[in-house]
Amino acid sequence: MTDSVTGVGDGTRAVRAGLPDPVKHEPTLPGPVFAAHYHLPGEVTGPYAYGRDENPTWTHLERAIGELEAPGQGGVETLVFSSGMAAVSAVLFSQLRAGDTVVLPSDGYQVLPLVREQLEAYGIEVRTAPTGGDAQLGVLEGAKLLWIETPSNPGLDVCDIRRLARAARARGCLVAVDNTLATPLGQRPLELGADFSVASGTKQLTGHGDILLGYVTGGGASAMAAVRRWRKIVGAIPGPMEAWLAHRSIATLQLRVDRQNATALMLAEALRDVAEVTGLRYPGLPDDPSYKTASQQMRRYGCVVSFSLPTRARADRFLDALRLVDDATSFGGVRSTAERRGRWGGDAVGEGFIRFSVGAEDSGDLVADVLRALDESAR
Ligand SMILES: *Cc1c(COP(=O)(O)O)cnc(C)c1O
Repeated sequence: MTDSVTGVGDGTRAVRAGLPDPVKHEPTLPGPVFAAHYHLPGEVTGPYAYGRDENPTWTHLERAIGELEAPGQGGVETLVFSSGMAAVSAVLFSQLRAGDTVVLPSDGYQVLPLVREQLEAYGIEVRTAPTGGDAQLGVLEGAKLLWIETPSNPGLDVCDIRRLARAARARGCLVAVDNTLATPLGQRPLELGADFSVASGTKQLTGHGDILLGYVTGGGASAMAAVRRWRKIVGAIPGPMEAWLAHRSIATLQLRVDRQNATALMLAEALRDVAEVTGLRYPGLPDDPSYKTASQQMRRYGCVVSFSLPTRARADRFLDALRLVDDATSFGGVRSTAERRGRWGGDAVGEGFIRFSVGAEDSGDLVADVLRALDESAR
């Protein structure tokens, strides 16, 4: 897929993202720099003084993510964090003060209710509305920050980022988009009008289920300075090894995303024909309620498919019967995972609701495994 902004394909951008200029006898991607402090004779000057503030391995990764999130856009900065939640909290808690109002999705990531309690404890008013139908528009008046999660996890509803961002900006309200599920190859929130694109790099961005990471990409210099200050205060920084592994993983992002997402569509199409599957959702299915909006703002539709089986017991038997799919939480990894989401509490889903994360297995093998497990678990 050739990119209209950069004029090269996404695979080309992904393999080269964030690489430093070639230096004779140096590696293409320099290894992780393990340093708590750097030589600093005399005056305190940047870029590298103390390890909680800066690290060259982060710098390369931050450039890589920035090139994917906001190609060709000047004045955009990316900051990496120790986890997605560290990044989410950095935006919310650095931008909001007592007396401010924030609009959150009512159907977003399961930790948001805990975040809500903390925001309220600090005197911040929290309003919520569902993602679907752009319902957050209705509670925007007087808000300082709008938090969007699209597609939402785990319900896979989609809202119109352009429309919400335009309405928010007209009211002087900042806009942050949780871009975890889409990845920057699926959707570029800054181009759609958002101030921040925030994500968990733990999921499909890094894709191997072996590191936690988060990032914030944003265009406003003073807003990003506050996010950077928050990172310094809280110290929620990634280790150099994690940052390096993440950068290495981004080289295969387009390969993984294209394979996983194509199989996710195939799986969704196969599930459509299974009688006991209800509430099937995949934003890339042309008859999905999210498809129309998704197709206007997304270039790829993600690797998560959600659906429900009639009962909790049936869902558990299905998960047990799968051979190529691990019963595990999280999503986006090269090995397929699925779980009965209701076991956590906190999501507004039924007992038989399954969130299925499609990995990089051969499509035919995976779809066959799912259909066989559905068949076996019916008995
Ligand atoms: C997983 C996830 C997060 C949190 O990321 P961690 O890396 O687990 O801290 C935030 N938002 C969404 C949509 C997620 O799926």
